[in-house]
Amino acid sequence: MTTPDMPWGAYAPGMAGLTGTQPSAAAVPGAPAPEVPAPPQQPSAGSAATRSGEFTPEAARRDVPVLQRPVNGRPLVWLDNGATTQKPRQVIETLAAYYATANSNIHRGAHTMAREATEMYEGGRAAVARFLGAPSPDGVVFTRGTTEAVNLVAQSWGRANLGPGDEILVSTLEHHSNIVPWQLIARERRARVVPIPLLPDGSIDQDAYADLLSFRTQLVAVSHASNVLGTVPPVKEMTALAHRYGAKVLVDGAQAVAHFPVDVQDLDSDFYVFSGHKLYGPTGIGALYAKPEILAGMPPWQGGGNMIDQVEFDRVTFAPVPHRFEAGTGHISGVAGLRAAIDWLTSFGREAVAAYETALLGHARQALAAVPGLTVLGDAPGKIAVLTFTLAGHDPVTVARWLDQEGIAVRAGHHCAQPSLRHYGLDAATRASLALYNTAEEVDRLAASLTRLQTQAAAV
Ligand code: PMP
Repeated sequence: MTTPDMPWGAYAPGMAGLTGTQPSAAAVPGAPAPEVPAPPQQPSAGSAATRSGEFTPEAARRDVPVLQRPVNGRPLVWLDNGATTQKPRQVIETLAAYYATANSNIHRGAHTMAREATEMYEGGRAAVARFLGAPSPDGVVFTRGTTEAVNLVAQSWGRANLGPGDEILVSTLEHHSNIVPWQLIARERRARVVPIPLLPDGSIDQDAYADLLSFRTQLVAVSHASNVLGTVPPVKEMTALAHRYGAKVLVDGAQAVAHFPVDVQDLDSDFYVFSGHKLYGPTGIGALYAKPEILAGMPPWQGGGNMIDQVEFDRVTFAPVPHRFEAGTGHISGVAGLRAAIDWLTSFGREAVAAYETALLGHARQALAAVPGLTVLGDAPGKIAVLTFTLAGHDPVTVARWLDQEGIAVRAGHHCAQPSLRHYGLDAATRASLALYNTAEEVDRLAASLTRLQTQAAAV
């Protein structure tokens, strides 16, 4: 069932070049399709950054139209990247061009456009495999996102492999989407979810983890980067330890993939999951990577079209992996957009982007340290650029509303990770989460605005 990876331009002439930086005449319905150029190796903005070896946010900002809009009369400062990232026009134009020139269902139909859409979809799978360092596209299942990918593993692998008394170790850092699916399947299979505690700096207590592991442990669920504290746990070492007990490891890469390079083979992850929308791509598309030998042994979790081989009323046989896990019509345009997002991000050089974000985090920490009454949660070494904080005298929602009036978008609440906030005795906090297009000036605006809020409150 798998189709070979096709270069982007090979399947849909009208879409060629859209992953680069040129505007597309073919995005206009009825416009003649341009010549098919060679697939771009490096979109131009990125290649400039890569040549110099240093990334500058202006190159990325130029590509992201929404960053030009004002909010409440001020230039937008988007610091809610942990919730979702803004989209470059390479992604936006790819989505528009897909519907304008190439829309078709896949894996069925003998006509040209069905074949082109299938090749695009499978090319997207191969691109995701390369992006994650996976050995083959056959280990990549498209899902709606991280949440659906974790539920897939819990409902398929979990139901087949968990039994009474088994344990699933889940770090206290986890997003609810890497906790609740395990609770649901544990309840059904009479297994137990066991939390792995945190240290005061927000890192995972590795001694406690080593003590909790046992031959009862069937799975370890751990985030590659926390959406609240920014912690980047030593996932490779944790995985090696889990494997000594024969346990599988699921890594939640939702907050990792946009920030630093990932290599699932180096990590030796059994399962790795992420969402396209946190990676400058569309909502409603993401992926599960699973080691092909594990995926091959997993039963289907949803039934329907696309995932079967033969259907009779007294028996059914299933498609090979990964198609067995993709029942129904998937988010085909989303795959096109996800691929455009991956191309866009990687064009800047992953290491260069990570180095820039680390420097920006350093600047942000300094700027926020000068705000009276502000406390940042979590300072584990090597954290990503996520700053969740409390501001003395103000509840988090008030802080977010104040910033919003100045055009600065941050998130307030429990961030779908209540246990990690409870670790600090809190129910809610304010979060500024940074991305490659954020600048030191934007961070300074955040700090200045928070300082004004404090000064104004003190004057009342
Ligand atoms: N895990 C982490 C660490 C996250 O930050 C998020 C989103 N905030 C998720 C999982 C869930 O992602 P999605 O809603 O895209 O499925």
